[in-house]
Amino acid sequence: MMDRSVCPICGGNEFESFMETKDFMITKESFSLVSCKSCNFMFTNPIPDKNEISRYYKSEEYVSHSSSKKGLINAIYNVVRKFKIKQKVGWIKKYAQTGSLLDVGCGTGHFLKAAQDSGYKALGLEPDEEARGFARKENEVNVQPIENLYHLDESSYDVITMWHVLEHVYELKEDLAQIEKLLKPNGTLFIAVPNCGSHDAKVYKEYWAAYDVPRHLYHFRENDIKNLFQKFGMTLVEIIPMKFDAYYVSMLSEKYKNGNLLKALLNGLKSNLKAKKLGYSSQVYVLKKKQAQKRLKFQRFFVL
Ligand SMILES: [Zn+2]
Repeated sequence: MMDRSVCPICGGNEFESFMETKDFMITKESFSLVSCKSCNFMFTNPIPDKNEISRYYKSEEYVSHSSSKKGLINAIYNVVRKFKIKQKVGWIKKYAQTGSLLDVGCGTGHFLKAAQDSGYKALGLEPDEEARGFARKENEVNVQPIENLYHLDESSYDVITMWHVLEHVYELKEDLAQIEKLLKPNGTLFIAVPNCGSHDAKVYKEYWAAYDVPRHLYHFRENDIKNLFQKFGMTLVEIIPMKFDAYYVSMLSEKYKNGNLLKALLNGLKSNLKAKKLGYSSQVYVLKKKQAQKRLKFQRFFVL
């Protein structure tokens, strides 16, 4: 296990314990969440060593990695997933009609394929070899190992997306600094993460499925995202709700506490209704890189 001695966002070194929760999905092991005394950021501490984490991902139930399962829940999941992928492409179109797109943590590449089909020059990065194979074979997209994040050309992407990925990343600030470099000036970054300030998080407490320890290393709220990206000179320009997540997360949370489906649907609905004040269960943060500094008009003169 790895003990964090400094806050991953502000570098502060005093924490308060916030909650004990469990890996309900796979190992049933207990983990602690702490909050930073100086910036209030909440994170899992301690966390498994980087070379130990893969054992927490080995599950039949980690649905995001498979798409061939049977059953009603899975059928619904696949319909919703298709809808959500269309939605994502729509959100991006608002900021960049076309251009180069990098999807970090692209999984089996379904979103990447949709982006490619709608005209983007799309590249995905993914740590899981099996998922990369699936993405290439079934979705015919260009996917590289995640380490290549540090080997891509700087200032070359109009859009970078991280759909429920940032909460899994070990080197938070290092990777984000690199991602900022890869964006073109005025390029757009889309970050989707769960919001532990949401109504459903407050209702389900330690059973809230989106704590998802130890896979989720960080538990972001709107302010954390603002604090974090300020360090990279990036500006938060929009927050987009992910309304399905309130239902999905409530269903999983009810499952963990042996509750019932009806309650889950009610809590999902309530969470969306209360989101004006607390934020949605999951949100997409749209961030802009700075414009390039304007060239001096006579600069060309000297070049000639
Ligand atoms: Zn802090």
